[in-house]
Parts: sequence; structure tokens; C-alpha cells
Amino acid sequence: MSKTFAINAGSSSLKFQLYAMPEEEILAKGAVERIGLNDSIFTLKFNGEKFELVEDIPNHKRAVEILFEQLEANHIVNDLSEITGVGHRVAAGGEIFKDSTVINEEVIEQIEALGDFAPLHNPAEAEVIRIMKEKLPQAHMVAVFDTSFHKTLPPVNFLYSLPYEYYTDFSVRKYGAHGTSHRYVSRRAAEMLGKNVEDLKIITCHLGNGASITAVDGGKSVDTSMGFTPLAGVQMGTRSGDIDVSILPFLMDKLNLKSIDEMINILNKKSGTLGISGVSSDMRNVEEAAAEGNERAQLALDMFNNRVQKYIGEYIAVMNGVDAIVFTAGIGENSPETRAAIMDGISWFGGTIDSEKNQTRDEAIISTDDSKIAILNIPTDEEVEIARDVERLK
Ligand code: AMP
Repeated sequence: MSKTFAINAGSSSLKFQLYAMPEEEILAKGAVERIGLNDSIFTLKFNGEKFELVEDIPNHKRAVEILFEQLEANHIVNDLSEITGVGHRVAAGGEIFKDSTVINEEVIEQIEALGDFAPLHNPAEAEVIRIMKEKLPQAHMVAVFDTSFHKTLPPVNFLYSLPYEYYTDFSVRKYGAHGTSHRYVSRRAAEMLGKNVEDLKIITCHLGNGASITAVDGGKSVDTSMGFTPLAGVQMGTRSGDIDVSILPFLMDKLNLKSIDEMINILNKKSGTLGISGVSSDMRNVEEAAAEGNERAQLALDMFNNRVQKYIGEYIAVMNGVDAIVFTAGIGENSPETRAAIMDGISWFGGTIDSEKNQTRDEAIISTDDSKIAILNIPTDEEVEIARDVERLK
């Protein structure tokens, strides 16, 4: 048995899951949140127990130190040398990383250099990789990129209709995101259907606070709704998704904004379900408000469903068919109402939800037996996919 970490570092957080591999048994999991702020929170769950610590954690270095101290104090590891593998989730892999990659100094520098594509994530991830390499010199480390599953997009789908040189000179193209999740659920869907993923056309709907839809043809991502950055695609918790970019200078003028960064910040942080509903970015709150008669909350739900439906229709066109539609992530996994509303509104395509089977948060085929399209609910598991990549690239 080897002990392998799956690490997901953000600008102010660090989530972790420790596995016994290849058994894929979870030994411990948890997170450090509010790094760099007051009252940071460290949580550790293991053996059915939960340990929580609230103190000021000024930086990622201290976050990693506390994590290691607590793993030893709670005898989850007796010595750090037992940790032989670490998989790091990395947001942007650009055009360079077409698969998960064993980490060396050059790879770390490339991750840092790709910071332009994910300014909140890549620098923090590179920093955590460096800290962990110092503390765990014996460990085999692998970077798992959020973008690399989408490396198979053909140019017809990854290019924007801009002057071609902007692609060749500046790498302006669609990169997509949530690749690890789309990869995991598409493969799992094929297993659940007893088919080879190579023989299936699947649309995977990762509907969380961030949301993206992917067309997976024969196991390969051929189109995805996020774009150059995660701002594109469907309506999200606080992100606008697709809009006509001519709105930007118009609004900057009306709002008297001095910099495009302020405008982009509005599109990233104040738009989407939050902006339309005026209630919250959190789907549960918006569903509650809608149930109490709040019309803008209902409009936000309707718009979210409408955008997902349009992408499903688009990807049926892109693949010239579909065998299975998968729902995953916070909203997709937990909201039977959303799944039903989306599928009922596009019943013409031949996918029919079974209303009883749909009452689940677990892994399940939720379509009727005679549905032309299989519909599945699959809780995503990006962490296990990361740990598997550490094994695969040994
Ligand atoms: P994620 O980003 O995958 O963690 O998903 C977060 C989103 O999932 C938030 O908008 C939550 O409100 C939503 N969510 C979680 N549980 C439920 C639920 N039971 N019903 C509707 N939305 C949910």
C-alpha cells in the first residue's frame, strides 16, 4: 500500500484527500480555508472523526505545515516518508500540457508561466508544489491539469473566429476547464451502462458554482462550454457565461468604469445566478426564494436551465447524436428538480427522466427503460482521478 495525496490549492484554500493506493481507500480528507485571512479554518476528517482548528494561517507554507503536523499527531501517518505520491490539481495547462505530467523544476516554471491564464490559481498551485517538494522529497509528484482532457478538441471547435495569427502568436483559443471531472464521469457512465466509452457519444453537465458542459465523443472531449477562461459558457453562480462582448465598452461608459479589470470583475463575481436573482449565487437559496414567490429568483433558475438546455442541443449537433447525458457537481448531483426541468424541456430529443429514479443524490441511471438517451446522475470524484494519475504515471 502507498499513501498518496490529491491536493487542490486555490488562492486562499487548500483541499486535500489522502488515499491508500491502489485500493483507493480514503485515509483522511479535509481543507484549509481562509488562508491569509483572520480565523482560518483547518478541518481534518478521518475514521469517522472530525477535527477542526481555527487560527490565523498567514500563507500556504503554514497551511501545509499544519496539515503535516496534524496528520502525524492523529497517527494517520507515523512519518511523512510514508507519503510516496502527490497529485496536484492545476487550473491551466495551456497548449503545453496535453496530459497529466510528472513534476520537475521545468514543469513548475511552466505552471508559473501559465499564470496569465489562471491568475488566481496557477501561482498558488506552483507555490504549494514547491513547498510540498521540500517537505516530501521522496514523493512522486504529478500535476493534473483542469484543461488537459480538452486537448482533443479539433480546431473547428477550439478556435475563435478572430484573425488566425491571434491563435498562432498569442495562443488565443478555447481551453475549457473541469476536465478531470468530465473525464471521470464520462468513463464512469460507460462502466455503468456496460459499454466501452469509445463506442459512446456522451454529454457531461458539470453543474456546480462553476458550470461547464462537455461533448465527449468516443471517450474524447470534442467541445466544451468554457473558453479561453472559465468565464464563458452557461450561466454560473456569479459568472455571466456567454455574452456579446460589445456590451463591455457600452457598460464601462454607463458605469463610468476606468479599467477593463473592473468590468471583468463584474462578469466574474456579480453576474450569473447572483446577478439575475439578486438573492444569492447559491442555488439552494435561489430555489428557496423562488418557491416563496420571488420572481427574479425563478427567472434565474429558468435562465440557468435554458442555458444548459441550449448547450445540450448544440452538442447533440456537434456529435451528430447522443447516447447518454450525465449530471454531476453540486447542483447536478443534488437537485432532482433541476435535472427534471432541464430534461423535460428538451424531451423532443428522446431523453426521458424516470421521476422516481431521479429522486437520488447517488450514482444512478435516472432515465426510463424506454428512453432513447440514457440519463445518469454521477457524483464527481476529481480526487480519485488525481490519485489514479499519480499511479498511472509511476
Ligand atoms: P459545487 O461548486 O460543485 O460545490 O456546487 C455548489 C452549488 O451546488 C451551489 O450553488 C449549491 O447551492 C448547489 N447545491 C448543493 N446542494 C444542492 C441541493 N440540494 N439543491 C440544489 N443545489 C444544491
